Amino acid sequence: MFKSVNPANGQEIAAYPELSGAEVEDKLHKAAEAYRHWRESPVSERAALLKKIAAQYEANKDRLARMATMEMGKTYASAVGEVDKCIAAFHHYAEHGPAMLVPLRHALSTGGSAELHWLPQGAVLAVMPWNFPYWQVVRFIAPTILAGNVGLLKHASNVQGVAGLLEEMVVAAGAPVGLFQNLSVKSKAVADIIADDRIVAVTLTGSEGAGMAVAGQAGRQLKKVVLELGGSDPFIVMPSADLDTAVRMAVKARIQNTGQSCICGKRMIVHADIYEAFLAKFSTAMKAVKAGDPMDPASDMGPLSSFEQRDTVLQQLVEARQQGAKLLFGGEALPGPGAYMSAGILTEVPLDSPLMHEEIFGPIAMLFRAANIDEAIRIANNIPFGLGSSVWTNDAQEQQRFIRDIQAGMTAINQMLASSPEAPFGGIKRSGHGRELGTHGLHEFMNLKTVLRV
Ligand code: NAP
Repeated sequence: MFKSVNPANGQEIAAYPELSGAEVEDKLHKAAEAYRHWRESPVSERAALLKKIAAQYEANKDRLARMATMEMGKTYASAVGEVDKCIAAFHHYAEHGPAMLVPLRHALSTGGSAELHWLPQGAVLAVMPWNFPYWQVVRFIAPTILAGNVGLLKHASNVQGVAGLLEEMVVAAGAPVGLFQNLSVKSKAVADIIADDRIVAVTLTGSEGAGMAVAGQAGRQLKKVVLELGGSDPFIVMPSADLDTAVRMAVKARIQNTGQSCICGKRMIVHADIYEAFLAKFSTAMKAVKAGDPMDPASDMGPLSSFEQRDTVLQQLVEARQQGAKLLFGGEALPGPGAYMSAGILTEVPLDSPLMHEEIFGPIAMLFRAANIDEAIRIANNIPFGLGSSVWTNDAQEQQRFIRDIQAGMTAINQMLASSPEAPFGGIKRSGHGRELGTHGLHEFMNLKTVLRV
């Protein structure tokens, strides 16, 4: 049984049964049957279905957003924004996806030509996290459907209500039976599903530990895997930056989704010349962050997604101080029945401390002083992760250095890093491999068939 608990008040919202082995088998069978037909469907039919799914999201926006807020505590306003982003992704792939599947032709030096055709491969399993419970999954569903593949979802245990709605939207749009199905299973069931011959590939968004487990299972079956794992993104501010904008966006980056975003700036690395000024403004703004009822538009952030998640962050803070870091303020559990905590700032985190190997998935910023750009880059790269980064400088040479030298899959210049349907998204190092979104995301689980012609 899965239990959904509202982290804003600790109350159980609903319980969802776990699928039996026979029910999983039935869904795998339906997926295989759906694929037999869907792979032959014209791309125009797939694009039309994406538009219909977008319309379902539009018509059910409030219902969808409320479920996310209740199950994992994000503010209602941000949940609505997340649903809007999903709608944009369905439209993006419906409108621009077909052009990404047009075969390419190359002349061969030996005569004749090679045509490159993008073909679907079958049923793909998605193992997904709770933090953006619609968006993480939609960036899988939209390209999967357009590619001619079919999808199965193992969503996080605490967002089974959202998981059910994700399937409901696709079914209500008139999708063929089995095209996209929710599998309400625990993580221990994943290995057998990956091993099943009807599953051709796996995509996982989640923690390092889950990534290692699922990649190992996929590897043993020689099945392709895309991994979108954790990050501890640097947010670097140099003297030429617009300081007020940088501070405002640093706060937004760090507290969005109550600090539970893989790509929110988590380590603010500030040039020594502006460090004190940044610290003063950043502290004032972080102290003003209002944690409160996620349904209240006046709340800047809601509770953490669960009491366990809050305990994890509080324990990280205890250990951070034992390792020599200083908690300037905040980082405290707030009284009351919800999993709320205050935003806070850690300074003096030793670069060789175990904390540098962890991701803080809560509203706590780490602040570092860098003497120059070399040191800023050294601190930025001093982590096992390589997901995103955000750099603030109006100096063109510094921008080029950051593009070349920051070890990350993404670098945003003078803006907060955010995902969008058009831009490939993913990391390097222990943040995973492969890409979602954009053309590259669409192609990840397709067979690029080379056809030789005389
Ligand atoms: P998580 O505990 O790793 O869970 C993610 C998913 O993996 C859940 O569905 C979970 O199922 C499942 N899972 C966990 N262990 C597994 C195992 N051994 N075998 C198979 N499946 C397993 O992560 P989370 O706490 O939900 O999400 C937060 C993490 O996701 C953070 O590290 C964050 O940075 C990362 N993230 C990355 C991206 C990105 O794009 N790079 C985006 C968002 C989040 P259960 O819930 O049933 O345990």
